[in-house]
Order: sequence, then C-alpha cells, then structure tokens
Amino acid sequence: MTELQGRKALVTGGSRGIGRSICLALAEKGAHVAVNYHSSPDGAKAVVEEIEAAGGSAVAVGGDVADPDAAQSLVKQAHEALGGLDILVNNAGITRDGLLMRMSTDDWDAVHHTNLRGAFLVTKAATRHLMRSEQGRVVNITSVVGVMGNAGQANYAAAKAGLIGFSKAVARELASRKVTVNAVAPGFIETDITADLTDEQVEGVLAQIPLQRLAGPDEVAPVVAFLCGPGAGYITGQTIHVDGGLVMS
Ligand code: NAP
Repeated sequence: MTELQGRKALVTGGSRGIGRSICLALAEKGAHVAVNYHSSPDGAKAVVEEIEAAGGSAVAVGGDVADPDAAQSLVKQAHEALGGLDILVNNAGITRDGLLMRMSTDDWDAVHHTNLRGAFLVTKAATRHLMRSEQGRVVNITSVVGVMGNAGQANYAAAKAGLIGFSKAVARELASRKVTVNAVAPGFIETDITADLTDEQVEGVLAQIPLQRLAGPDEVAPVVAFLCGPGAGYITGQTIHVDGGLVMS
C-alpha cells in the first residue's frame, strides 16, 4: 500500500499504545513518520526501528506537547527531519481519574494541559507547514468519553469534548487552504491507559458495547490512516467513532 507515499507525518505520543499503531499504519502506507515521545525515548526508538525494519522511514522526536516551547521545538524538529509536514496526528493523552468532589486542581489541569492545550500548541505550530501541503491533514484523537461522559473522568471528558469543538473550529479555519481536520473517538482500547480497569469495570463496560469486546490499538490506526489519505479529502470537521457501537448518533 503506498497511498501515503512520500507524505510527512508527525504523531504525538507515538511511543506506545494507539500512537504507536498509528505510526506503524502511516509508515506502512508509505509516509515518513516523526514519532513524538515524552517520557518513553526507548519506546519511540523501538517504533522507529520497527518501521525501518519493515522498509519504512521514521525519526524519533522528543518533547512535552503541553509545554509551549517544547511544542514549537518538536514541530520544528519534525519539519526539519522530514523535509516538510503534511499530516499531524494529535494523539498524546493522559488520564488522572477521580470523582469530581475529590478531584484536585492539579489533576484537572494536567489532563487539560496534555490532552487539549497540547493539541492547540502543536497544531498552531504546525499550521503554517500544513497549509503549504497539497493535502494537509489533522486528526485529533478524542474519546467516547468526550461524547457520553464517564463517572470519575470529569477532567478527561471535558478535555476530550473540547478537542471535538477545537477540531470543528480549526476545520472551518483551514478549509480554504484544503487542510482537513477531523477527530477519531476510540471507545475502550487495550493499552496502558485501560490496563488498570478492574474485572468488574471491564464487565460493566462490555455490557454497554454492542460488539461485546474491547478493541486493540491496531483497530483504531487504520481509521486514522484513512482520514490522512486521498480517499478522505472531502471529510472535515467530523468525529469518527471506533467504539464497537458504544455511541450511536
Ligand atoms: P498510552 O498507551 O498511555 O500512551 C499515551 C501516549 O501519550 C504515550 O506515547 C505518551 O508518551 C504520550 N504522552 C503522554 N503525555 C505526553 C506529553 N505531555 N507529551 C507528549 N506525549 C505524551 O495511551 P493510549 O491508550 O494509547 O492513548 C492514546 C490516545 O488515545 C490518548 O489521547 C487517549 O486519551 C486516547 N484514547 C484512548 C482510549 C483507550 O481506551 N486506550 C480510548 C479513547 C481515547 P510517553 O510514554 O513518551 O510519555
């Protein structure tokens, strides 16, 4: 598959989980990939090596998306290393769960800083480059929780809902430059983020999912890769659900 041949992509939080799968999927379709990491340089290095072993091209780029200087710097590094930028996937995200009455301001802020402010900072830094591309693409990884809410995740739900609004606003701003901006809303995906769910919590979740199972990260990545490709040129401002039918709208 070479439908992204030669395209230059930056994936934030590409060192693990869903971000890792997105990096591999984009590279498999021919994109040159900048794999961003924050605290897992070895994870990012392993992703780069996996891509290279499969005959693809990738580079690791460190930096905290929530820090304005680091966000600028990581986009600059990616742009220089790849020789341009056509695709941005804002995937970096964290959770700091707790019931509202016990949630600290630090936990509220940390989740907003990484999940929402991070997407703002990186997209802002990348926009100039994306506008120069023939087929600029932004995909923001939101969550089913941003649409339906979840007890114990007021901070995360608000940040992910914000990311959907952000995607729509930026889609309208960049449409005249032929840059599409979409969101992908995964349901419950087996990664480090969901590893701490108890059996009871998993059972509760499964009872609500029509397809009756959790998914792997490699079931989210192809949807992101499609939105980055030529077949998705007339799709913008949308939120695509990858959640086994948990949310139907
Ligand atoms: P994960 O396995 O915990 O991986 C999180 C990734 O984000 C890591 O690569 C991490 O990099 C990176 N990251 C965290 N903070 C960062 C920062 N400040 N700057 C740069 N990178 C940072 O999580 P995941 O499950 O793959 O989640 C990926 C995205 O999907 C998140 O936005 C998450 O909210 C969303 N999502 C996940 C699920 C799910 O069920 N798993 C469902 C819906 C949405 P380092 O390790 O290098 O720090």
